[in-house]
Amino acid sequence: MPTKLSTHFTLEELTRSATADRLGLANWPTADDLKRLQATADMLQRIRDTLGSAVVVTSGYRAPAVNKAVGGVTSSDHARGQAADIVVPGYGTPYQVAKALAPLVSVLGIGQLILEGVKGKQWVHVSTRVPERPVNRVITITDAGTQVGIQALA
Ligand SMILES: [Zn+2]
Repeated sequence: MPTKLSTHFTLEELTRSATADRLGLANWPTADDLKRLQATADMLQRIRDTLGSAVVVTSGYRAPAVNKAVGGVTSSDHARGQAADIVVPGYGTPYQVAKALAPLVSVLGIGQLILEGVKGKQWVHVSTRVPERPVNRVITITDAGTQVGIQALA
């Protein structure tokens, strides 16, 4: 039986990692990570309820070794159970999803919202952690760099 963290999110989908499977790495959260994953699942549930469409988690928790293997930065919120990369195909493109969520970050308890990736391979990163600098709260990251706000690809 999968372990439910919220109505539509399980521990299994938040800790699943193709990279961990491929490299034979364990991807177990610590007790502290697990507490943060619970808060992440609650945030994802609020997002799901707001958009009214199934949220697909493409990357959730990454144990330090897994995070390193995917090229994530050491300080990644994924390595602390505070972040998830999502797509919501039933709602729209990642750009449309990020645009819809941007005005609602405070209401939905989204600490940081990032539209990430390149044309044809974009996703939305949501974290429960509010960045120190408010300007970093809602950003777009592409191969061209980082921009403030949610920006369409050129
Ligand atoms: Zn991410």
